[in-house]
Amino acid sequence: MAEHFHEDSVAAVAVRIDVEHPEGLVFDPHQPQLRVTDLGAVRGDGVFETMYAEAGRIRKLEAHLERLARSADILDIGLPPAASWRAAVELGLEEYRTRGALPEELTIKLVATRGVEGEPASDDPAFAGTYWALLTPVTDAMRATRGKPVAVTLLDRGYDSTAAERAPWLLLGAKSLSYAVNMASLRWAKDHGFDDVIYTTSDGQVLEGPTSTVLIVTRGADGARRLITPVLETGILPGTTQGAIFAAAEKAGWDLGYGPLTPQDLLDADHVFLASSVRLVSPIARLDDAELAVDDELTAELIDLLAEDLPVSHPLD
Ligand code: PLP
Repeated sequence: MAEHFHEDSVAAVAVRIDVEHPEGLVFDPHQPQLRVTDLGAVRGDGVFETMYAEAGRIRKLEAHLERLARSADILDIGLPPAASWRAAVELGLEEYRTRGALPEELTIKLVATRGVEGEPASDDPAFAGTYWALLTPVTDAMRATRGKPVAVTLLDRGYDSTAAERAPWLLLGAKSLSYAVNMASLRWAKDHGFDDVIYTTSDGQVLEGPTSTVLIVTRGADGARRLITPVLETGILPGTTQGAIFAAAEKAGWDLGYGPLTPQDLLDADHVFLASSVRLVSPIARLDDAELAVDDELTAELIDLLAEDLPVSHPLD
């Protein structure tokens, strides 16, 4: 097989979890591993998480594990216990240490698929699918754009704000492997001169980005700062980055709010951001044809709040 591996992916470490190796087994991600009939590959029938580690410390590990379990529950996919995932990721970090080269920053992806139809990997439902963790150094490109202003376009997600409640089979709010639509939206944005996307519902509510949560900051007449993020009832993903920023901001005395937000709310806000685990925080400098104010100090402050790595806070908690 003629394969070409980018420098960063050569440095990848992979750990699989199965019933015989509930604490993980290191494998070579550059060799074929997945059966071609795996439903994760052929139907996107699986769930995942993307986490960030700095100096070997994984940010918001428990929140990611909880969300992985929640997504697996929504898709009805058996999942190894949290202790297995913790051990597998630790094994991956240990593998880097053994090689004498633990990267300063890592992206850690956890993947769980339904496995092969009719051929469960184990009789134990918790190990019936396919499970792995992939650790890769954060790319230079990602590091270079982190915290930098972005241009964003609003795109219609094609359903209204009640779809999550009316149609649970759409799996809204689960972090499923079916991200082809999300990636297509990003390509659309790039083709039209934007860096990223914010989805809206057909009835005019702000949802989220294809890989990020929307945050707005407003300043009251008394100068008090207020952080607001869209409500979860529309079926957006509960962002762990948003949750960690909210927890730290609350401790620092900021006001917090959850709203049904509209595009006009974004235009009226003092500042608007996209937040996600590896990018951290990106200020929005342009929303379609409107210029938005960027405050570098505020961006740095939000990134610092994240470093406190407090347990996340969501409106559903
Ligand atoms: N919303 C969607 C659809 C996402 O895919 C992501 C992350 O990839 C987020 C929000 C942000 O989540 P987190 O902050 O937990 O990375």
